[in-house]
Amino acid sequence: MAVKKVIRMGHPVLRQTAAPLTDEEILSPETKELVQDLLDTMAAEDGIGIAAPQIGISKQVALVGVPEDSERYPDANETPLYVVINPKIKFLDETPQGFWEGCLSVPGLRGYVERPSKIQVDFKNLDGKEQSLVLEDFDATVFQHELDHLFGVLYVDRIKDSKQLMYTEEFAEFHAEEEE
Ligand code: ZN
Repeated sequence: MAVKKVIRMGHPVLRQTAAPLTDEEILSPETKELVQDLLDTMAAEDGIGIAAPQIGISKQVALVGVPEDSERYPDANETPLYVVINPKIKFLDETPQGFWEGCLSVPGLRGYVERPSKIQVDFKNLDGKEQSLVLEDFDATVFQHELDHLFGVLYVDRIKDSKQLMYTEEFAEFHAEEEE
């Protein structure tokens, strides 16, 4: 078990396209250790998702899962933990939906981002098996945010109006009621 340092916006690894894993690599002890480190780091930071590049590892591995008692995202539904490797996204409904997003690599800020409202994600799990998920609502946003990390994109890149980027405290004080 190891909590890793989360790298922040400005670190070049966050801007790289991460490497996909071979089947052999997926089943390797290194990948199991990486997933455990991601899990430990995500729990320590109270995140609902984390991607390997965020701990400085440029590989296409991400975790998404909302614990029952998330303090950072109290309105998010509890979601089982997914290990997402080598993902491919299909947009099933491009109608934009907006949420206030935050990111462990952009600490202390929230920003309003619109993304397609329904997606399909095809990926491999930690056993190397193909999985496919259809996601809507906030779940669709969380997956798109995490998968963006595997392709060098941060949520701030997708903010259309820079007035809708702000510090977490000011967000809570002045804008939280707009979240619903
Ligand atoms: Zn993030």
